[in-house]
Amino acid sequence: MSNTLVNLKNVIQGTVLEPSDSDYDKARMVWNAMIDRKPALIVQCKSTSDVVEAVNYARQSNTPISIRGGGHNVAGHAVCDDGIMIDLSLMRHVEVDIDGKTALVDGGCIWRDVDEATQKYGLATPGGLISDTGVAGLTLSGGIGWLRSRYGLCIDNMISAKVVTASGEVLTASESENANLFWALRGGGGNFGIVTRFEFKLHKVGPKVMFCAPIYPFEAGAEPIRFWRDFMADKNHDVGSTIEFATVPEDDEFPKEAWGKKVYTIYAVYAGDADEGEKLLQPLRELGDMVADFSGHMDYCELQQLYDAIMPAGEYRSYWKCHYLSGLSDEVIDTILEGFSSTPSPNTLSSIWNFGGATADVAADATAFGDRSMPYMFSMDSVWPDKSDDEKNINWTRDFWNRMKAYSDKGRMYLNFPGQGEEGAKLLEDTFGDNYGKLQSIKKKYDPDNLFRFNQNIEPA
Ligand SMILES: Cc1cc2nc3c(=O)[nH]c(=O)nc-3n(C[C@H](O)[C@H](O)[C@H](O)COP(=O)(O)OP(=O)(O)OC[C@H]3O[C@@H](n4cnc5c(N)ncnc54)[C@H](O)[C@@H]3O)c2cc1C
Repeated sequence: MSNTLVNLKNVIQGTVLEPSDSDYDKARMVWNAMIDRKPALIVQCKSTSDVVEAVNYARQSNTPISIRGGGHNVAGHAVCDDGIMIDLSLMRHVEVDIDGKTALVDGGCIWRDVDEATQKYGLATPGGLISDTGVAGLTLSGGIGWLRSRYGLCIDNMISAKVVTASGEVLTASESENANLFWALRGGGGNFGIVTRFEFKLHKVGPKVMFCAPIYPFEAGAEPIRFWRDFMADKNHDVGSTIEFATVPEDDEFPKEAWGKKVYTIYAVYAGDADEGEKLLQPLRELGDMVADFSGHMDYCELQQLYDAIMPAGEYRSYWKCHYLSGLSDEVIDTILEGFSSTPSPNTLSSIWNFGGATADVAADATAFGDRSMPYMFSMDSVWPDKSDDEKNINWTRDFWNRMKAYSDKGRMYLNFPGQGEEGAKLLEDTFGDNYGKLQSIKKKYDPDNLFRFNQNIEPA
């Protein structure tokens, strides 16, 4: 084995790190500070051929692989104990075809790379809400961001992918080449191979978009949320919107008397003409006394980076869970308000996300992601600084999640916010529904020995 390791080190352009190397500890760190895993090797790749060499080495030495894109997976799937972590974070090139409105995006890119490269030409593709999240992990399980209402999930904008499979083959997956693999990559996560390059559709966006962000005190209660629900009913094709529950930080941007108090913000983004969006969203800013209102016309790139600072990598311990909701009755709203009122950590957020619009225009069997009919998602993003508070915060999240189960859309969950995937295969069966069997068959074809298993794992049929 060590002889082959010497070969691997010699043949790749990137770097192989072992536990004794000085950069090893930094390289194994991921976004969630709770994750402390120690791979046998970290292969920092610089090209597709580096990835092929690393996969071949892992397969021949019978060592499982974890794949690191942006390292933001809250369950920490990017890093494994004793296996080989294939790290793509040095592969971050983006190439824009202005006339064709497409972008080639390397498998280690973060969303900031894509937004900054495409906005130079007034273009964008739907990404996540925080700019240092990885394109690959976020996209392969769906990808939900502000542009979802107009342009769908990230996977709906994927045109093709270059994939290194478990056998070390390099394949292109698209509607016309390896179509089953392409179908599986659109929602099936990192189960089928390592994507070293994505091709995305681009749309005309910005540079200015309308960002709506009135912050209401928790005491405003259910009324503004009910208003939002009814107001949004005919706007899901135009507006990406999220109600976020939070605790006001001790920050001069907020009035001092609000520090430490619970609030909710009605976020809404209109990515067409900003003046038009301002008029359209004005009613959301007139629902009573506000703690603050950060609404305004904003550069799209600025919007995409606005919340990076509150979610810094490696600083907080985290446990995130969610439900797709089948509706937002008054009872659901009351349960959410009551549940969030007891959060043990002031860093924790919870959000109601609207769906519908372009997200729902795609048939359940068109991509592995499955049924798009859920009207909302509710996410519980528990975040806290101290190890001694782990149990308290995880238990609170699980209790809240259990209470919200009664309102779940067929027991399904967004697989990028799955806690630690405690529900196992049942979670995947419920979430993928009728698509699960096909996913297992495709897994068997491309990864029969389950080399890629540190993920929401689909076992080969
Ligand atoms: C602060 C923060 C904000 C977030 N915001 C959003 C949001 O707005 N919208 C949303 O939808 N999600 C969001 N998420 C969730 C996010 O989508 C997932 O955590 C996702 O896994 C992150 O992708 P990554 O590449 O950074 O993760 P990593 O931890 O690097 O990878 C996670 C998994 O993705 C797979 N993977 C990664 N790279 C590749 C590759 N090149 N080829 C094949 N498989 C690969 C592997 O299975 C890997 O285990 C957020 C997460 C955080 C922490």
